[in-house]
Amino acid sequence: MKSIKTDVLVIGAGPSGTVAASIIKQAGYSVVIVEKLRFPRFVIGESLLPRCMEALDEAGFLDAVKAKGFQQKYGAKFVKDGVICDYLFEDQFTKGWTWTWQVPRAEFDKTLADCCEQMGIPLHYETTVTDIQFNGTDSVTTVEDIEGNKWTIEAKFIVDGSGYGRVIPKLFNLDKPSSLPGRKALFTHMRDLNRLSVHEPNRITIVTHKPGVWIWVIPFSSGITSVGYVGDPSFFKDYEGNNTEVYDQLIESQPYLADRFRGAEKMFETRVLESWSSTTDKFYGDGFVLTGNVTEFLDPIFSSGVTLATVSSQNAAHLVIKKLKGEEVNWEKEYMEPVMQGVNTFRTYVNCWYDGTLDTIFFAKKQVLEYKKMICSVLAGYVWDLENPFVKRHLHEVKKLARVIEMKQALEENN
Ligand code: FAD
Repeated sequence: MKSIKTDVLVIGAGPSGTVAASIIKQAGYSVVIVEKLRFPRFVIGESLLPRCMEALDEAGFLDAVKAKGFQQKYGAKFVKDGVICDYLFEDQFTKGWTWTWQVPRAEFDKTLADCCEQMGIPLHYETTVTDIQFNGTDSVTTVEDIEGNKWTIEAKFIVDGSGYGRVIPKLFNLDKPSSLPGRKALFTHMRDLNRLSVHEPNRITIVTHKPGVWIWVIPFSSGITSVGYVGDPSFFKDYEGNNTEVYDQLIESQPYLADRFRGAEKMFETRVLESWSSTTDKFYGDGFVLTGNVTEFLDPIFSSGVTLATVSSQNAAHLVIKKLKGEEVNWEKEYMEPVMQGVNTFRTYVNCWYDGTLDTIFFAKKQVLEYKKMICSVLAGYVWDLENPFVKRHLHEVKKLARVIEMKQALEENN
């Protein structure tokens, strides 16, 4: 059986895998990436957050992504019963990036993967990890290519960025259930010929359909728009027919979308994803670190996935380099805690979205600019800025603000 040696093996060529691979390679270590599929491949997760630009920048990907001309994203717009709540990243509390992109992921991920290959990182497509044996921090990974050929990779360290594949958690029984209820998404890409009939046609928009059910509208620069419904699986049971028929009924039933998307050409059959939230016991071990979706994926509502994926990889890459230099790494303090800081901040906002707390804040008649800026920074992905009270004491501040708004509104109504 063929065998190769490398300093670091990266599993998966999604954003988390490629960011880690590039940063480690730039530090002078040898890296090999194995990717189960052939790129470009479809994956959902098309709206980025400004914070991920810092990770893409350090990985050396920004120029290549800029050259693709993806739709730029300057904020997020929430709509409920025709009322609009607008967040513009330039208004945010934290100093940082004020824009990012809305990207068809097939093309975006291929761009990052191509950058890695151009840096001289061997990237083996259609190659799946089937087994890993650890000997201390060294490892021997068995992979299988599409023709059924098996070979091994000896590595000093493994970065597992295998996303929904969850390679190491599955091989070593590290998975544990998420604290979030299972939700379902029904989505497709559509040719958005009526785009210009709406105000700000290229803005990402989150539409509240009914309590607990919402829709993403993510326009791409190609004139195609991604539209997806998300909600409790029981919501979709009220509609009859196959996925496409249910989707068409849902579009028709939403006044904000019906005129724009009625009868629009679908670029692929309506797809379903369900129960995507997952987590693991620990994000590191002797000779490996988990990054991106393999750590914990919450919910699509605030587009946190790619940002958590790239920022966790950026952090992991620095620590892998430190380890390879022979320095001590306290993985719990230096990796697990910062990753959980970001994940737990977003978890609060996800929970407060579904329990209606954020509705009270987003659609309050009077908005307090100071608080809006702080929440805007969370929506921009700056969930590690502990100067921001809405990050540092996320649950407390969000709940407190909603209570104050409710009390003021009750007082006004009684006067
Ligand atoms: P991935 O992008 O999944 O990449 C992992 C790679 O590993 C894949 O290419 C896979 O083929 C490969 N792999 C898997 N198993 C193996 C194996 N055994 N061997 C080798 N390779 C393997 N995020 C956002 O930021 N914005 C959004 O708007 C958004 N919307 C979403 C909507 C829905 C309905 C869902 C479910 C998620 C959404 N997400 C969104 C989340 C987003 O999809 C992920 O967080 C993101 O893709 C994670 O990146 P990653 O690099 O960790 O994993």
